[in-house]
Amino acid sequence: MSAITNHMPTEELQRLDAAHHMHPFTANGPLSKKGARVITRAKGVYLTDSDGEQILDAMSGLWCVNIGYGRDELAEAAARQMKELPYYNTFFQTTHVPAIALADKLAQLAPGDLNHVFFAAGGSEANDTNIRMVRTYWAAKGKPDKKVIISRKNAYHGSSMGSASLGGMGYMHAQGGLPIPDIHHINQPNWWAEGGDMTPEEFGLARARELEEAILEMGEDRVAAFIGEPIQGAGGVIIPPETYWPEIQRICDKYEILLIADEVITGFGRTGNLFGSQTFGIRPDIMTIAKGLSSGYAPIGGSIVSDEVAAVMAEVEFSHGYTYSGHPVAAAVALENLRLIEEEKMVEHVRDTAAPLVREHWLKLTEHEMVGEAVITGLMASIALTPDKSTRAKFASDPGTVGSICRDICFSNNVIMRHIGDRLVIAPPITITPPDIEEMFTRINRSLEQAASAIKDQGLMQAAS
Ligand SMILES: *Cc1c(COP(=O)(O)O)cnc(C)c1O
Repeated sequence: MSAITNHMPTEELQRLDAAHHMHPFTANGPLSKKGARVITRAKGVYLTDSDGEQILDAMSGLWCVNIGYGRDELAEAAARQMKELPYYNTFFQTTHVPAIALADKLAQLAPGDLNHVFFAAGGSEANDTNIRMVRTYWAAKGKPDKKVIISRKNAYHGSSMGSASLGGMGYMHAQGGLPIPDIHHINQPNWWAEGGDMTPEEFGLARARELEEAILEMGEDRVAAFIGEPIQGAGGVIIPPETYWPEIQRICDKYEILLIADEVITGFGRTGNLFGSQTFGIRPDIMTIAKGLSSGYAPIGGSIVSDEVAAVMAEVEFSHGYTYSGHPVAAAVALENLRLIEEEKMVEHVRDTAAPLVREHWLKLTEHEMVGEAVITGLMASIALTPDKSTRAKFASDPGTVGSICRDICFSNNVIMRHIGDRLVIAPPITITPPDIEEMFTRINRSLEQAASAIKDQGLMQAAS
C-alpha cells in the first residue's frame, strides 16, 4: 500500500487533534506535546498511519476487530441497511427486521437457555442494563433486598457510572464518586501477583471461596448476582486457575445467585470457542456481549438472558432502554460479521491453527530475562515483566513504568501491544494467518530485546523491596 496523501499533513492533524479532541483514558496535556499517531486506514491485521507506516495491530483495536480490518461485506451490509431503514426504535410496540434477525441468531449461538437479547450500543450500557435487570428480577420475585452485586477487584466492566462501579479499578473509582451503592468487590484470581506460596489450583479455589464468604457475611437474601469476565481483559489478561470457575459456578448455584459472564472480550471466537463460557464450563444466567459482536465495525452490545430471567422480566414493564438499542445498521453489521465468522470457520481457525502457533511463540518469551509468566488461552495472551522471576518480584519503579517503556518500543517497531501495569498483552484479530504471526513475533522479540537494554540503561531492572 502506498503512502496516504488525501489528507492534511500529519503535523496539522496532530495540532487540530490536540486543540479540540479530548482522548479517553489519557492525560491530554502530555499527549498534545507528543502528538497522537494518526491512523488513516487498515486492512487485515495492519493499520496504516498518516505517514504511510504499516503497523501490525496485535490488539484488534480495543480487543474488538475480531475478523480483521477491511471486510467490504460489512460495509456493504451497512450501506444496504442505511438505504432501507437507517433508524427506528423498538420502545413502543414496534420492531424491525435487523433486531429480530440478530436476536434470533444470538439465541441460536449462545449456549444453554440463553435465548433472549436486550440490546445496547456497547458493553458499558449492557452492564448498566444488567445491574438494573438483576435487581428488578429479584424485586419481581418478592425479594427487593436482594440487590448486591459481587464483582472482583481489577475487573473491567465499562466506563459509565454503573459499569465502572461493577469494575474493580481503584483509579476509576477515585474519579467522580464511585462506586454506586450495593456493589461489593472480592479479590481476583491473579496467581502471579497474589498467589504467594499456594499452587495455582489451591489459589483458584481460595479466591472463588471469597465469593461464598461474602455471600455468607451479607446473607444470601441480599446478594443478587456475581459478575465476572471469564478472563480478565483490561485487568491484564488474567487467566484464572482451572479450579476457579467450577467453584464459582457451584457457589452461585448453591445460594441462588445469578451469574453474569461479561463476554465483551471473550465472546465471538477469542478463546477458541464462540464464547469464553464454553472454554471454562460456565453456565451464565446473563451474558454481556459487545466488541467482537460487530468486530468493532459498528457500535453494538447487549445482554443475552436465560429463559428463566426473561420469563420473570416479561411480567414487568422494565423502565430501561437506549435510543440505539438494536440499532438497525449496527444489527445488520453484526449479523454479517457473525455470518463471516461461521462461514469462514474463524473459530476453528483460532482453535486449530492460530492459537497453537501463537502459543508456541508466546511461551518461549519466558526465555527473555525480564519475562516471568507467559499465559495464553485462544488468542488472548499476557506476559508478566519482572526484575526477578524466581521470586515473582515487582519492579522498584512505579507500577507501569517498565511496561510503558516496552509498549512505546513496540509502537516504534510498528507492532501494537498494550501494557497493563507491568504486564504486556496481545489479542490479535482471530483471522491472523501463520505468516502474520511470524511477523508479529519478529517485531515483538526485537522490541523486547531493545526494551531490556533500555530498562537496564535506565537502572530500572531492580526489585521492589
Ligand atoms: C470493553 C469492555 C466493556 C465496555 O464496553 P464498551 O463498549 O467500551 O462500553 C465491558 N466489559 C468488558 C469485559 C470489556 O472489555
